[in-house]
Amino acid sequence: MNRRFTCIVCPNGCEITAELDGGKIVSVAGARCKKGGAYVRQELTCPRRTFSTSIILEGGKLPLVSVRLTKPIPKEKIFAVNELIHRQKAQAPVRIGQIVLENVLGLGSDVIITKNADRLS
Ligand code: SF4
Repeated sequence: MNRRFTCIVCPNGCEITAELDGGKIVSVAGARCKKGGAYVRQELTCPRRTFSTSIILEGGKLPLVSVRLTKPIPKEKIFAVNELIHRQKAQAPVRIGQIVLENVLGLGSDVIITKNADRLS
């Protein structure tokens, strides 16, 4: 059985085909570099994702401020992490890189601010 993937590691977006035999990877073809093979192997064993979103900013010039994960997390944890993030509120002022949640759910990824936002004066 073959499974096809589009590598998302870089903008080249290589189309990669993995040949499987009973869940075991027999071969990987179509990747222009080694990262593609590693990406497909991870997708087949423990797919991970990162994402960005926004949280409420209290006392700021804008009502929301953007945040992101510092490292990809297992795909099946995205809903739980997203829910936890949306329960957070930041207090203005905030700065890029400021940690909102450290080691979220023990997954080894922090949630950080991605935009400077000043206090409403
Ligand atoms: S296989 Fe390599 S070159 Fe192709 S998209 Fe993935 S990282 Fe980029």
